[in-house]
Amino acid sequence: MALIVQKYGGTSVGSLDLIRQVAARVIERKQEGNDVVVVLSAMAGETDRLLNLAREMMPRPDPREVDVLISTGEQVSVALFCLACRSMGVEARSLLGFQARIFTDHLYGKARITDIDTSMLRDYLDRGRIVAVAGFQGLDERGNITTLGRGGSDTTAVALAAGLKADSCEIYTDVDGVYTTDPNICPRARKMERISYEEMLEMASLGAKVMDIRSVEFAAKYGVTIHVRHARLASPGTIITQEDKSMEDRIVSGVAYSKNEARITITKVPDKPGMAARILTPLSEAGIVVDMIIQNTSAGGSEDLTDFTFTVPKTDLEQAMKVVSEVARDIGAEKVLGDENIAKVSLIGIGMRNHAGVATKMFNALAKEGINIRMISTSEIKISCVITDKYTELAVRALHDAFELEKL
Ligand code: ASP
Ligand code: MG
Repeated sequence: MALIVQKYGGTSVGSLDLIRQVAARVIERKQEGNDVVVVLSAMAGETDRLLNLAREMMPRPDPREVDVLISTGEQVSVALFCLACRSMGVEARSLLGFQARIFTDHLYGKARITDIDTSMLRDYLDRGRIVAVAGFQGLDERGNITTLGRGGSDTTAVALAAGLKADSCEIYTDVDGVYTTDPNICPRARKMERISYEEMLEMASLGAKVMDIRSVEFAAKYGVTIHVRHARLASPGTIITQEDKSMEDRIVSGVAYSKNEARITITKVPDKPGMAARILTPLSEAGIVVDMIIQNTSAGGSEDLTDFTFTVPKTDLEQAMKVVSEVARDIGAEKVLGDENIAKVSLIGIGMRNHAGVATKMFNALAKEGINIRMISTSEIKISCVITDKYTELAVRALHDAFELEKL
């Protein structure tokens, strides 16, 4: 007998009928002789609806009350799920985050799970029940309800799988697995059978939306193997797990892209010690995350001046421009330029660690399409290029073809 944790996302429990279908699937697994813990998201659109209500009440709603409010979405799902099970003659019990003793820190809206006491859960399982746990929520040490951040039900599932030492952790969603790239823009994208945590983290942080990134971090930390599958199709899905030899054979595993960044350039920055820190410190103080950074000699040719370029999240561009313009004035730089029309395309693969020539092949593939590279950054398992955003789709397809990712 196995202990299985399953998580179903909002689109999989978006109506009573869909909840019945989920219940039927869960019951099937139960009747095969397994213990099943089900983690549910709020019904599709519900979390957004609740957030809008709060914002209608006041523009900057109190975070504690927002968490009390938005955690109700998952409460509805687990209750309806258990009723569905009972309507089919099977006993199921719902538990909210605090009842399942999921403890978090006190950062409302983005709390982190600190501990889980699984004794209550085990008790229900021992009595032969299906247990449905509300995703996305927990309790801080002062007894306040917290939520884990958007998409946080994935993390609830992984954390429960770790805490219960489950035999498998299955994430059911509206796609049937992790693809070599976005199948919506590249029809030749191939579903991966397996992918390492590290690659999945890069894919997720670069825009592949299959799983919430914090849940993958959690899984990597506690060694929970995740199985991503379609909620209604029978296809095998993708396994996210520790890297192994077979994964290393492949040099590039996937192509990711992101249109969520913007670029800022400060021209004619005095080229002396401390400048980069002076520019970037007020940004980090403002909570703005800087990603790529490039510094080179100013186009003006003077040796004592440099241009300083970096990227920030598009949503932070306006604020970043304000902050940076002030610094630029203080340090006597020439001007500050913002550019929203950029995109980042990236190659990801743990096999890159041991292979040369990947970057050259990437640059050639982009050049062949006449796409100009405006920034480059590399890490051990990733190469990213910033390009003009209207070429994103073309670039992704060109790279997918160049590295023959459609082939197994
Ligand atoms: N309902 C929450 C959200 O929409 C959590 C989740 O779906 O995982 O973000
Ligand atoms: Mg979701």
